[in-house]
Amino acid sequence: MFAVLQLVRKKRLQMNMFDLKQHPHRRYNPLTGEWVLVSPHRTNRPWQGQVEEVASEAEPEFDPNCYLCPGNTRVGGVRNPKYTSTFVFENDFAALRPDTPEARVDEGGLLVAEAERGICRVVCFSPRHDLTLARMSVEQIREVVDTWVAQYQELGAESFINWVQIFENRGALMGASNPHPHGQIWANSHPPNELRKEDSAQREYHASHSSCLLCDYLALELKSRERVVSENGFVYAIVPFWAVWPFEIIVVSKQHATGLDDLHVGLRPAFADILKRVTEGYDRLFKVSFPYSMGLHQRPTDGSLHPEWHLHAHFYPPLLRSATIRKFMVGYELLATPQRDITPEAAASSLREVMY
Ligand SMILES: [Zn+2]
Ligand SMILES: [Zn+2]
Ligand SMILES: [Zn+2]
Repeated sequence: MFAVLQLVRKKRLQMNMFDLKQHPHRRYNPLTGEWVLVSPHRTNRPWQGQVEEVASEAEPEFDPNCYLCPGNTRVGGVRNPKYTSTFVFENDFAALRPDTPEARVDEGGLLVAEAERGICRVVCFSPRHDLTLARMSVEQIREVVDTWVAQYQELGAESFINWVQIFENRGALMGASNPHPHGQIWANSHPPNELRKEDSAQREYHASHSSCLLCDYLALELKSRERVVSENGFVYAIVPFWAVWPFEIIVVSKQHATGLDDLHVGLRPAFADILKRVTEGYDRLFKVSFPYSMGLHQRPTDGSLHPEWHLHAHFYPPLLRSATIRKFMVGYELLATPQRDITPEAAASSLREVMY
């Protein structure tokens, strides 16, 4: 009888001890002010590492039908130069245009619209049709980083451009229509939603703590190292504590830099190196050319210094358990709060095995 009572008491004690690895909980994202629901009890089985081989057709080095390959003609008749490194051009189907007239519609604060001026560009990472960031050398990725810096500065210098969003949509699963390695830049006047959230969060943190949100966050992560998946001493890849996507990663530099242009020039190879390690590791995880949306977040280009802003990159990959099982943001996630089963710590441990 005594033994049974002891067992019950022990069980009750265990139940009362909150464990991030066991109990459903929500985690706070200090960059956006939003929460994610984590349900670790649903995946208490260890990761099996099952891998299903997905036959991927090898791309040719040059595709005569690709509108991004050197020397080919794009829709609309413009011919690409025979570029040998990176190549930037104005998007032929731009979502934003610089010549949009200023205007505002407001009916009782309920029907509100504003004209949006902007510039959209395409950045080809390489003349080779068959490469990806993962398959490019660190030196080649460094050239992409240099191009991003030049574009960020050039677009940011335009008086009506306050936000420069550099991003890459990789893989058919993410809706990328062309496998040629390329990214995009959308630059505009008004703060885009995600940047508006991160801008106010970093500003408020800086005002109340007299320090930088991401510098402080990185220091915490480097103390436990539980979620650090790759590093080179200057730049770190981390599965953020508040990650929504199963294998989400945030890339943060140790040096406080408000934008890529503010990062010490000597550290650009380190930044390129981490991009290489992350994308290569992703490809190894499920033995597939890993799909993702990746983007840089940098200070607004409104002319102020923005010491509160800390340059970083987000990787949002949709895959969940294999090359074909993806996560969908539906149901509760669409209507209430994003949710995940595998914890960020478990995801980080899987990623560490494939990221060097
Ligand atoms: Zn191509
Ligand atoms: Zn910082
Ligand atoms: Zn961000």
